[in-house]
Amino acid sequence: RNYARDRVQGRPYGQPAGAAIVHHPDVRRMLLDMKSRIDAMRAIAYYTAGQMDRAHQADGADTRIAQATVDLLTPVVKAWCTENSIQIASTGIQVHGGMGFVEETGAAQHLRDARITTIYEGTTGIQSNDLVGRKIARDKGVTVAKLIAEMRSDATSLPYSAELLVGVDAVEKAVAFILATNDLNPERVAAGAVPFLHLFGSVVGGWLVLKAAAKAKAKAAAEGDDTGFYGSKEVIAQHYATHVLPHAAGYLSSILNGSASTLGFAEDQF
Ligand SMILES: Cc1cc2nc3c(=O)[nH]c(=O)nc-3n(C[C@H](O)[C@H](O)[C@H](O)COP(=O)(O)OP(=O)(O)OC[C@H]3O[C@@H](n4cnc5c(N)ncnc54)[C@H](O)[C@@H]3O)c2cc1C
Repeated sequence: RNYARDRVQGRPYGQPAGAAIVHHPDVRRMLLDMKSRIDAMRAIAYYTAGQMDRAHQADGADTRIAQATVDLLTPVVKAWCTENSIQIASTGIQVHGGMGFVEETGAAQHLRDARITTIYEGTTGIQSNDLVGRKIARDKGVTVAKLIAEMRSDATSLPYSAELLVGVDAVEKAVAFILATNDLNPERVAAGAVPFLHLFGSVVGGWLVLKAAAKAKAKAAAEGDDTGFYGSKEVIAQHYATHVLPHAAGYLSSILNGSASTLGFAEDQF
């Protein structure tokens, strides 16, 4: 962000000569993409940690539901957040241009550091198999159905509810496919496990980003100022809803239809 505010290159539309690259629409897109994904990642991690606390402190059925939610979301926190970290660190290099590729800015080191996180402590492939296999199919979809119902009921009072509901519908269709297919054709489900991780992570993350925006809007109104931290949450949510959530449809298509190519390619054709 600091580099984008300092670096002068080209003349951004509608700006005086000498304006920094932070005024270029594409640089703004990249910075907001990084910021909104980081908000979603933090929100999923905090939400899961909150469920952990509930699992320790609640009674009876509430304890079991909270623990099952922790179990469901743990592979998402690990694998979706680390996959995003690679994308974010790579975008960070892009914001710096050539200075990002060479060592002085430190941007490239962030990408190298992020790159290992999808490999150790369970690769993304293994975490995604855990998500679709143990946490959804073996659970018969009970815990994920509760989360889907909660997201659906929240959506009515959240900004960008239409975008969220498209994502929630996609998760529901994908879960139905997993439950109907896993017993007889687990390899078809496994072929779509990582796309499902991305679908599920981006929709749950979006739900929490939109919830944060709704809370922040009330705070900004109470403070009579929508230009600061609280005001920023609304635009971050708008960016997430219009740039990240629409990918849900693509992930769903890969989950439902993508195994034919993945499984159909002969070993010596690779
Ligand atoms: C820097 C670093 C530090 C490490 N630190 C530790 C440590 O402190 N303690 C420790 O115990 N280990 C550590 N490891 C090991 C790390 O946990 C393993 O590298 C990791 O679990 C992946 O195992 P692997 O390297 O054998 O890859 P493989 O298991 O051979 O994986 C290769 C590819 O095959 C995929 N794959 C494998 N099996 C499946 C499957 N069933 N379904 C779908 N895809 C599959 C993987 O997703 C991956 O894409 C470290 C590794 C590194 C590089």
